[in-house]
Amino acid sequence: MANTPYPESYYAASANAVPPRPALQDDVETDVCVIGAGYTGLSSALFLLENGFRVTVLEAAKVGFGASGRNGGQIVNSYSRDIDVIERSVGPKQAQLLGQMAFEGGRIIRERVSKYNIQCDLKDGGVFAAITARQMGHLESQKRLWERFGHTQLELLDQRRIREVVACDQYVGGMLDMSGGHIHPLNLALGEAAAVESLGGTIYEQSPAVRIERGANPVVHTPLGKVRAKFIIVAGNAYLGNLVPELAAKSMPCGTQVITTEPLGDELAKSLLPQDYCVEDCNYLLDYYRLTGDKRLIFGGGVVYGARDPANIEAIIRPKMLKAFPQLKDVKIDYAWTGNFLLTLSRLPQVGRLGDNIYYSQGCSGHGVTYTHLAGKVLAEALRGQAERFDAFADLPHYPFPGGQLLRTPFAALGAWYYGLRDKLGF
Ligand SMILES: Cc1cc2nc3c(=O)[nH]c(=O)nc-3n(C[C@H](O)[C@H](O)[C@H](O)COP(=O)(O)OP(=O)(O)OC[C@H]3O[C@@H](n4cnc5c(N)ncnc54)[C@H](O)[C@@H]3O)c2cc1C
Repeated sequence: MANTPYPESYYAASANAVPPRPALQDDVETDVCVIGAGYTGLSSALFLLENGFRVTVLEAAKVGFGASGRNGGQIVNSYSRDIDVIERSVGPKQAQLLGQMAFEGGRIIRERVSKYNIQCDLKDGGVFAAITARQMGHLESQKRLWERFGHTQLELLDQRRIREVVACDQYVGGMLDMSGGHIHPLNLALGEAAAVESLGGTIYEQSPAVRIERGANPVVHTPLGKVRAKFIIVAGNAYLGNLVPELAAKSMPCGTQVITTEPLGDELAKSLLPQDYCVEDCNYLLDYYRLTGDKRLIFGGGVVYGARDPANIEAIIRPKMLKAFPQLKDVKIDYAWTGNFLLTLSRLPQVGRLGDNIYYSQGCSGHGVTYTHLAGKVLAEALRGQAERFDAFADLPHYPFPGGQLLRTPFAALGAWYYGLRDKLGF
């Protein structure tokens, strides 16, 4: 039987202890079968259990094996596309609903952490850092835009203020979101999995869904068992492969890489990020970083289109880190890893239903920690018959990548090269 471990990472090395979870070896019956134990699957499972559904979660490897256990840990609110772009595409009514939901994911995470006492190093405060005056202008207009949707907690930082929160001289200013923040992402997923089990849900690890028998009474097959369910939620995101061909066709897995330094000690850590906020810059191919609970710097950046694993991650990411913080030139890198997120052409998530009973959410295109928590709630609402918020997402227009599965990678890389050039030239 397959036994896929976590990839080597700082998160796997500092994960909270968890009980062993068996593989599915039986035929079981449930109300909802969730495929994938990342944040989308776990958040859906939790909301469904809290509303009286019976839930069985199938995970191909281990809880948080995918992006949810490997990400930068940044609680970044809103979507990977500005709400005014969304408004132009879908009109004011739908944009209003989506805009109102844009900061809900961060609240859901905090509620989960508090209600289920999840130990995941939660810290408040996230900064968007502008490298150019043009990016600063964009942050100013974003702030005005969010205020229109009722989100008034954002604070602009001028050059002096941003130096007070991050010791990097690349930035001309920024924007602080105290409803953002950061977490140990794998420990958040493990805590949510424990919460699922505390409410009577079952999670099978090392149990990939290999086939879905569709119809009025769908059945999900794993190598050694099957789950009969009233509903299925597909939450495999960038790791789903071709299990649901309709979903594979309109999205593309991409890799992004993260490194973690050795512990810096309190003094050096505080000199870099005195308030312990997380930071992401405003480039299209952005850098993001933060401190861990034990005062290491976690630094991420770069995208590999098509999700090949790059050979030497440290060689790719360390120069970016040293550009931001030259003072770390003698600091050792203890961990380096890669993970996959799912890109869509519009960079907006894809949410919907196949037939009467197979629901899905995927493709938040980079910023997914908060969105996936919201997605779980919205999917659970739809299964309870309240579909207004689900429909607001489901009605977003989506298109397949040009070039199909064969040529989508070079096309997307070309697009990214263009945006990367714009970042470098500052236009
Ligand atoms: C390196 C990296 C850094 C990131 N940093 C940030 C960040 O700082 N902030 C932010 O907001 N977002 C970030 N993201 C994005 C964010 O992590 C993701 O959007 C989010 O975690 C996706 O959650 P998910 O549950 O949809 O998918 P995943 O977490 O990928 O979970 C999918 C799960 O489904 C399982 N699975 C797949 N197929 C099957 C199957 N057939 N049967 C059973 N199980 C299956 C997989 O094993 C996996 O565990 C980052 C992503 C990466 C890769």
